[in-house]
Amino acid sequence: MTMPKLSLYTSLKIIIFSVFIVHLFYLIIFFLFRQEILAVANILSVSIYLFTLKLLFDSDENSKIAMVILQVEILLHASLCLYILGWGYGFEILFLTSMVSLFFISISFKFLNKAISILHIVLLIFFFFTLDTHSNNNGFYKETLFVFNLTISCIFTIITSFLLESSNLFIFLSILEEKEMAKNILNHDPLTGLLNRASMQQILNQKELYKNKDFAIVMCDIDNFKKINDTYGHGAGDAVLKSLSGIFKSTFRDEDRVARFGGEEFLAVVTGIKKDAAVNVVERVRETLNKNIVEFENIKINATMTFGVVAHDGTGEFSIEKMIKQADELLYAGKRNGKNIVMSADYDPKG
Ligand code: GH3
Ligand code: MG
Ligand code: MG
Repeated sequence: MTMPKLSLYTSLKIIIFSVFIVHLFYLIIFFLFRQEILAVANILSVSIYLFTLKLLFDSDENSKIAMVILQVEILLHASLCLYILGWGYGFEILFLTSMVSLFFISISFKFLNKAISILHIVLLIFFFFTLDTHSNNNGFYKETLFVFNLTISCIFTIITSFLLESSNLFIFLSILEEKEMAKNILNHDPLTGLLNRASMQQILNQKELYKNKDFAIVMCDIDNFKKINDTYGHGAGDAVLKSLSGIFKSTFRDEDRVARFGGEEFLAVVTGIKKDAAVNVVERVRETLNKNIVEFENIKINATMTFGVVAHDGTGEFSIEKMIKQADELLYAGKRNGKNIVMSADYDPKG
């Protein structure tokens, strides 16, 4: 069974609402059995819980104060009932049940939890010595209240444990989600959304990614990027970087890894294809770039790139660093050859 995802705050609202309903029942019971003081006390309790519910619906930040109200009210109410009615009406059980509220420690005050725990014990000892065990022996009324208190204590404990379990699950899930987001931020370049150099380095360290598989390393660099920056400004340069990263994302396959390796330099690892197929993919990227017009503040910019591709079948001893160096050399050969070109070669172990 999958648990519903509840926040701790929603759980608290449900609990406060349930306690509010329980006090309405007390109010009726005390009214029927002519316990004026307790009936008046319960009018007060019902009003307090209505006010607490309003606080909770106003803001989650009021949860702490709601917790304090709940813990103090339960203790005072149970003490008052126990004091007036004596043992056997089930209010002694409520002492135990109110201990359950201590599990909400994460949204309450630690010192209050300690104080309440101590107060519970002190009050029970006090009642033990002061209350007459056989006082107020009032048959049906006593039995009704005892059964009612025992029942709501059980229900309250079950509901609370269920809510806490689902809310802990919620906290756990949100921690996982945040961790995932943090990891994402850590691994990606904020401007282009591509992998950053550090995470690409980690990927390249995973030898099983390309061991005994055809793969290629692609190094590429924007042509005359300095001129784009100098002519149209840094903002225009950034817009070009974003736009061509979008082309990388849509043209390379999902299983290919593309990283912004430096300022305007990119590195891609394409796996599972031979050199000609890898060159075809890169040619497609180059052609798309040639047709791509970046619009920035009414300026239209066309940026091209030069590529160096080095392929290998992943067998035998080879060095990924050497492959990157060879791809870089091919890239610079392409720059000398007039730019906007794909240069390719097979990995040279002696290179
Ligand atoms: P070539 O065709 O030989 O590659 O010439 P180039 O002008 O592209 O090369 P050069 O290395 O001279 O210039 C690279 C420029 O890239 C210089 C630097 O200011 C710019 N650059 C690096 N990172 C960023 C960035 O994040 N945003 C912008 N707008 N420019 C950047
Ligand atoms: Mg450069
Ligand atoms: Mg450049």
